[in-house]
Amino acid sequence: NQSEEKLTEYLDELEFLAYTAGASVDKRFTQRLTKPDSKTFIGSGKAQEIRDYVKENEIGTVIFDDELSPSQLKNLEKEIEVKILDRTNLILDIFAQRAQTSYARTQVELAQYEYLLPRLTRMWTHLERQQGGIGMRGPGETEIETDRRIIRDRISLLKDKLKTIDRQMATQRNNRGKMVRVALVGYTNVGKSTLMNALSKSDVFAEDKLFATLDTTVRKVVIGNLPFLLTDTVGFIRKLPTQLVESFKSTLDEVREADLLIHVVDISHESFEDHINSVNQTLMEIEAHQKPLIMVFNKIDAFAYEKKSDDDLSPETRKNISLEEWMKTWMSKSKYPTVFISALKKENFPELKKMIYDEVLKIHISRFPYND
Ligand code: GDP
Repeated sequence: NQSEEKLTEYLDELEFLAYTAGASVDKRFTQRLTKPDSKTFIGSGKAQEIRDYVKENEIGTVIFDDELSPSQLKNLEKEIEVKILDRTNLILDIFAQRAQTSYARTQVELAQYEYLLPRLTRMWTHLERQQGGIGMRGPGETEIETDRRIIRDRISLLKDKLKTIDRQMATQRNNRGKMVRVALVGYTNVGKSTLMNALSKSDVFAEDKLFATLDTTVRKVVIGNLPFLLTDTVGFIRKLPTQLVESFKSTLDEVREADLLIHVVDISHESFEDHINSVNQTLMEIEAHQKPLIMVFNKIDAFAYEKKSDDDLSPETRKNISLEEWMKTWMSKSKYPTVFISALKKENFPELKKMIYDEVLKIHISRFPYND
């Protein structure tokens, strides 16, 4: 019973994910059911409708916004006769494409195997049609003929490998000594890398795609006379596959061990409040929600506002709310220092820097109380 508006937003996001993975979306299908069909997730009439469309238009892949059970996947492939991906598979594929370091690659590989293991039967029976394309990069291609046993061995090997790297990374973090550590957190694509670049004058990869940042980057930043370490973390996303949450533990450790969090929000995005909630949810899950935090509302330059005329009787929508009104609401609602900026145009940077300076200084003072 999600509202029409929410549904559109979710599918917008899924389409953006598909685009990030390298696909172009041809058509959307939605269906209202009180609960998903246990065999095929959607109803049989809908499956027929999709099948006809796919046939007629020579569509290569159908993507579902939810995670499908192994048997649902199998049944749907039989019914629609085309490659079926679910949200998890799609996200894993994007991570596989973008992992830069061997650590990130190992994490993704582990997550992919864990996803694959219960779905092996499907892979066996649909071998021919399963070759290449989205959802098949990474371990799927070469290891598909191997049995569960080999995959299980591989999983435990990867886990060991990650444990070793985890220990190395923990030592690295310890060696960073007493420097104050600040972590950028936020939903994916809100502008964390852009902000990182702007604050540290470095050149972190920024692009308008989801999860451009996979590996954490750490930069030394100096504001005033205060040095601190700034970390860019992986973007959070709604329904991040559990396999990934688990295997990205070390990435999240950066957040867990930070002294100060900067929560970046894209205020120009229609569902920015949902994004805030899902980030807060993740922060709770990793028990980082009690840390000092600064709320940074980014992309004020891109904020779209359609003022209603006096005789317009259509209901209030968020588009009728001006930036000033949002600012007022969030300034009074937020229990954290809050600032509105444009990372791209460097608007309100003095204000932002002052805010970071003040918070970092507080942490410094609490750490070195007897320094003058
Ligand atoms: P991340 O995924 O959170 O690291 O986001 P990125 O830094 O990669 O930015 C995502 C997209 O938003 C890029 O296309 C940026 O150019 C764009 N972007 C970032 N900051 C701003 C901003 O202040 N205003 C506008 N209009 N776009 C921005």
